[in-house]
Amino acid sequence: MAYDFDLFVIGAGSGGVRAARFAAGFGAKVAVAESRYLGGTCVNVGCVPKKLLVYGAHVADELEQAAGFGWTLEEGHFDWGTLIANKNREIERLNGIYRNLLVNSGVTLLQGHARITGANEVEVEGQRYTAATILIATGGWPQVPDIPGKELAITSNEAFYLKALPRRVLVVGGGYIAVEFAGIFQGLGAATTLLYRGDLFLRGFDGSVRTHLKEELEKRGMDLQFNADIQRIDKLDDGSLKATLKDGRELVADCIFYATGRRPMLDNLGLENTGVELDPRGFIRVDEQFQTTEPSILAIGDVIGRVQLTPVALAEGMAVARRLFKPEQYRPVDYQNIPTAVFSQPPIGTVGLTEEQALAAGHKVQIFESRFRAMKLTLTDIQEKTLMKLVVDAETDKVLGCHMVGPDAGEIIQGLGIALKAGATKQQFDETIGVHPTAAEEFVTMRSVTR
Ligand code: FAD
Ligand code: NDP
Repeated sequence: MAYDFDLFVIGAGSGGVRAARFAAGFGAKVAVAESRYLGGTCVNVGCVPKKLLVYGAHVADELEQAAGFGWTLEEGHFDWGTLIANKNREIERLNGIYRNLLVNSGVTLLQGHARITGANEVEVEGQRYTAATILIATGGWPQVPDIPGKELAITSNEAFYLKALPRRVLVVGGGYIAVEFAGIFQGLGAATTLLYRGDLFLRGFDGSVRTHLKEELEKRGMDLQFNADIQRIDKLDDGSLKATLKDGRELVADCIFYATGRRPMLDNLGLENTGVELDPRGFIRVDEQFQTTEPSILAIGDVIGRVQLTPVALAEGMAVARRLFKPEQYRPVDYQNIPTAVFSQPPIGTVGLTEEQALAAGHKVQIFESRFRAMKLTLTDIQEKTLMKLVVDAETDKVLGCHMVGPDAGEIIQGLGIALKAGATKQQFDETIGVHPTAAEEFVTMRSVTR
């Protein structure tokens, strides 16, 4: 049967755009439907605007350090409206770039909500299209627990468009988004409290990293409240919000920001018209080749709930395009040793196994750990410490994990990701000449075993 398209992609986010562009480049006839914004979460309400706000917050650090280097500054003033307007302008520019990328690679771009009406059929704005393969790349959406007053809270989606910087913010959650936004709000001058339901935030990260970041955030004056959860939210007469915690305490703030995870975006997608099944967590179930339980439908990115990171969605999009239209170039996505950064203040960079994971996997480990005050701070009164840690297999000498908390951690960890992918040993780290004077050289000069 002749179809309208070889590939119909639903969602022009990180994964969808990558799959569509490359499939078209390999000669396929491709359509993409996008209901909201070109570039998806990452470009519009994720990585990019987040990083711009992180840069904005980081200026406060630079200003604080300036006096040590002899600079006398007039009292600074921060204007939220200017930052948001400039950020919005940059996002619009990127939306245009994404449009051009798609159109110039020959992809048919359809604006509107896509609903699957059959195994090979999609409806957009009342028009039906057929396709040999449908790719679901619809991403995720913030999830707020169902508590009384939840409608008074905001999520990352709204935070990017707040009219003003709130004076007092309660951030709820202990994952990437909570920690990053707490740093943004705090850095820009809001009195910030981070509430996390467990003993220590960033579950799944290395224990030393979690403890170190906690200490550094406390040094910066952030109010960290662990084993704390909100039971209800009420609006007070003066417009502020009162959070009543499960332990009975009451906290008042101008903004309550929830970052308690993201659900797959399946709203009105029409999965009931297909044989696509969900996994027990509610994400789309796929096999190693991103095949759903409906033979003509594939899924990638946040909607499959594997690793919710843009570079992973890109890799999955690439793998799908190659498997379908350039099979000789197909390589499976490697989920081992994915480097990642949390853009907190100070930031985290990490790749490979945590100490806890390495032990649980049965490795005999050697731990190399270093804490030091960065050279840049020696002319200032700032007492922030950088943490670097290597987890090494004591039997094979292979470096299993690299972890860092400190300035530029995300930039530094990328190169270490290559080293781990290449299977580097601790001896090879030691034989690598350092770049002096940098913080990064510490990763190749840690000689004494800490544990
Ligand atoms: P998305 O990028 O979410 O794209 C899905 C697209 O599908 C959207 O444009 C949506 O409008 C569209 N869509 C949904 N349903 C339909 C439909 N029925 N019809 C038509 N269109 C539809 N990752 C990093 O690697 N680094 C970071 O620093 C980082 N920071 C983040 C910060 C925040 C605040 C958030 C929320 C996420 C962040 N992420 C980061 C995660 C990253 O944004 C996601 O992993 C990535 O965007 C997933 O890509 P995707 O293609 O799966 O989905
Ligand atoms: P995460 O899954 O990272 O964290 C969710 C947090 O919310 C956890 O601390 C979790 O606690 C807590 N939580 C979950 N449910 C509840 C609840 N009902 N009540 C109270 N707390 C709850 O999600 P995020 O929303 O922070 O981010 C989503 C994903 O987006 C990230 O996992 C990451 O993959 C991606 N992302 C990547 C970034 C980057 O690369 N820099 C930046 C931002 C996002 P517990 O641990 O106890 O389960």
